Amino acid sequence: MDTITALIAGEKVASGGAPIAIIDPATDTLVAELPEADDATVDRAVLAARRAFDDGSWRFMPVEARQAVLRRCAELIEASADTLADIECTNTGLPLAQIRGRSVLRAADNFRFFADYIGQATGRLYEQHPDYLTMVRREPVGVAALISPWNSPIALGSMKVASAIAFGNSCVLKPSEQAPLGISKLVELLGEAGLPEGVVNLVNGRGATTGDRLIRHPEVDLVSFTGGTPTGRVIMRTAGELLKPAEVELGGKSANIIFDDADFEAALDGALLGIFTNNGQQCLAGSRILVQRGIADRFIEAFVERARRIKVGDPRDPATVIGPMVSQRHMQHVLSFVPGSAAEGELLTGGCRAGDTGAYVEPTLVRAADRDARLFQEEIFGPFAALMVFDTDDEAYALANHSRFGLVSYVWSQSLQRIMTAQERIQAGTVWCNTPMMRELRAPFGGWKESGIGGDGGLECEAFYTRAKTVSIPRRPLQLRKLGA
Ligand code: NDP
Repeated sequence: MDTITALIAGEKVASGGAPIAIIDPATDTLVAELPEADDATVDRAVLAARRAFDDGSWRFMPVEARQAVLRRCAELIEASADTLADIECTNTGLPLAQIRGRSVLRAADNFRFFADYIGQATGRLYEQHPDYLTMVRREPVGVAALISPWNSPIALGSMKVASAIAFGNSCVLKPSEQAPLGISKLVELLGEAGLPEGVVNLVNGRGATTGDRLIRHPEVDLVSFTGGTPTGRVIMRTAGELLKPAEVELGGKSANIIFDDADFEAALDGALLGIFTNNGQQCLAGSRILVQRGIADRFIEAFVERARRIKVGDPRDPATVIGPMVSQRHMQHVLSFVPGSAAEGELLTGGCRAGDTGAYVEPTLVRAADRDARLFQEEIFGPFAALMVFDTDDEAYALANHSRFGLVSYVWSQSLQRIMTAQERIQAGTVWCNTPMMRELRAPFGGWKESGIGGDGGLECEAFYTRAKTVSIPRRPLQLRKLGA
C-alpha cells in the first residue's frame, strides 16, 4: 500500500522519522510502515501553508471560484469513494458498508456544505453614528493546525480541512498515527481540485512528537483538535501558553434515556444503533442507557436478544455490523471494563473477545452497580453499553447529568411535554429526541463540560476560522483638532 509521510504543496515527501507500523486490526497483519514526519518535515509543511496564505491566491480568490474548487473536492471524493472506503476499512476495521454509505459521503458533504455557506456569509455595518460608518469584516486567520482522531478519520479529518480552507485559511492536517491511510489518500485527491499549492498539507506521525511540533510552530495561528479529553487538556495548555485560538472536540459518555411511554421498538432500534454503529467507537455513542422501571425487564430482554444476533466479524462482509476494534491495545482497553464482581455491575451479554485473530469484541451490555461505577463514568469507546434503571423523571435527569462529559444525549418518549422538559434538563451540547444520531451540519456540534470547547457548525466554524476586523470610515470630511497649529 502506498504510504505517505507528508504531503506538502502537492508533493509527497519522505521523512527520516521513526517508522510507525500500520496494522489491519481484522487480521493483525502489517499493512504499511509509515515513517513519521520529523521536525524538518513539519517545518516545511507549515511554511508551505504560510506561503500559500500570504500570497493571497486562495483567500482573495473570488468566492464563486473558491466555491467551485470546494465542490470539485466533493466530486473527487465521490469519484474515489470505493478506494477511500477500502483503505479506511483496512486501516480501521470499520465495516466497509458503513464507511462507504456514511463516512465517505459525509466527507463530500462537508466540502459542499462549506462551499454553500461561504456564498451567503455576511459582514456587519453600523450606521447609527452621524459622522461614521463602521463595518465589521471577517478575515481568515492564517495557518490552521488540524489534529484528528482515528475513529472516523475520513469523516472527521475532512470536516476540519473543509471548514478551515473554506474561509480562506491554509492548513496542515495531522491525522492519528493509528489510522492515517484513508485520510492521507483523501488529501492527495484534493490536489486535483484546483487548490493553490500549499493550501492543504498533511503530516503523519505521533501526536506527542509530530502533533506537538505542529501546534507549537510559530507560523501556526490556530489549532483545531478532535480526540480524547486527556489530550484535549494538553492541547489547550499548549495553545493557551502560546495564545493561539483553539477549539477542542472531546470524549463523551452520552445518556440514552428511555421513558416508559416511548415507542418501544423505535427506542430499542435507536439504543442498538446508538451504541453499536461505527464499532461503538463514536464520541457520540449512546453508551449509558437509562431505562424506566416499567419497561426495563422487557427492554433488557429484547436488547440482549438482538445484541446476540448482531454479526461481529470481517468488516468487508456486507452483513457485518461490528468489525474489529482499531487495535489489540484498544480491544484490551474495552475488555478491561467487563465487571469482575457484582460491586461493579452485572454482565448481561457479551464481555468477551470474539475469535482468536483480530481485535473483535462481542456486543456487550452491563447493568452498572451504581452511578459511580467506572464503567458508567469512563469513556469505553467500543461496543459496550452500561445500563441503569430509573423510577422518576428527575432521577433520569440526575443520572444523565452525573457525568463529567456533556457531548450529546438521546431521549425517547411519546409525550411532547416530557421531551420538552427533558431537552431543557439535560446537560449536553446536542439532544436527539426520538431519533438516533442525526447530524445537521448547519447547527452547532460541540460538547459541554469535559466534552470540549467550541465545535463544528456553520456559524461556529465561521467564528473560529475567521477573525473580526472593525473598520470605521467618516461619512463626510472631518474637522480634526489641529494639534500644534
Ligand atoms: P487521542 O486524544 O488519543 O488523539 C487524537 C489526536 O491527537 C491524534 O491525532 C493524536 O495523534 C493526537 N495527539 C495525541 N497527543 C498529542 C499531543 N500532545 N499534541 C498534539 N497532538 C496529539 O484520541 P483518539 O485518536 O484516541 O480518538 C478517540 C477520542 O476522540 C475519543 O475520546 C472520542 O470521544 C474523541 N472524539 C471526539 C469527537 C467529538 O466531536 N467530540 C469526535 C470523534 C472522536 P496519535 O494518535 O498519532 O498519537
